[in-house]
Amino acid sequence: MTSTRASEVRVGLVYPELLGTYGDRGNGVVLVQRLRRRGIAATLVEVAAGAIIPASLDVYLLGGGEDNPQSAAAQGMRASRSNIEEARAGGAVVFAVCAGFQNLGVTYETGNGEHIEGLGLIDATTVAGPDRLIGEVVVEPERQTGMPLLTGFENHAGRTRLGAGTRPLGSVRVGGGNGDGVDGVLGDRILGTYLHGPVLPRNPALADYLLEWVVGTLPPLPSRLEEQLRAERLEVALGGRVGRWRERRHLARG
Ligand code: GLN
Repeated sequence: MTSTRASEVRVGLVYPELLGTYGDRGNGVVLVQRLRRRGIAATLVEVAAGAIIPASLDVYLLGGGEDNPQSAAAQGMRASRSNIEEARAGGAVVFAVCAGFQNLGVTYETGNGEHIEGLGLIDATTVAGPDRLIGEVVVEPERQTGMPLLTGFENHAGRTRLGAGTRPLGSVRVGGGNGDGVDGVLGDRILGTYLHGPVLPRNPALADYLLEWVVGTLPPLPSRLEEQLRAERLEVALGGRVGRWRERRHLARG
């Protein structure tokens, strides 16, 4: 956090009425709680749909939404572009899921041929594909993040192409993600993904990865229930693979 910012970490839930499918609000709750449990003051700030997004937030959370709410959200985001850019220059973090992720890019072409202009914060374009990508997803994050496998749920038509030199969050082990073998985007204090769930309760390491961009290195936090959930979701998504792997080890040991 830069010194010009409030002592309390302000986690902004942007347009939850428009961008909040599959409980994406939970991402904000998790970020605030993981800070508070470590004795760091944090508050969830809701930015009502259509309102100007203030420059004073430390984290900007953008969730998923179907095409119409996504288009309305993009309009408000574009009107607030200078505030978001100012916040980013001051060290703020942007985390976006699905429609929110698409809106960070240059444009999204819907199935009806409508072009939704995004913020252009990342070099990416999205085009609706012929079918929807629906189901559990497993993503292997880029090695430098140090994060373990991520689990989530996806339901979207958009296929996202990252520009040359723009890095994804990771490679897809199960599911669709961006549609070309990778998922999301990983930039300088900006991270996008197709993973719902909501994704942060399911992946505490990802929550802490984002928080460390804001407050610096954090002490570990016991996350037994979250890790249990993560293990269970991984097992479901990887199908018999985890089970078969265990079986092989068992047989190999006699
Ligand atoms: N409207 C977008 C798509 O279908 C995003 C959907 C979502 O956020 N779940 O690609």
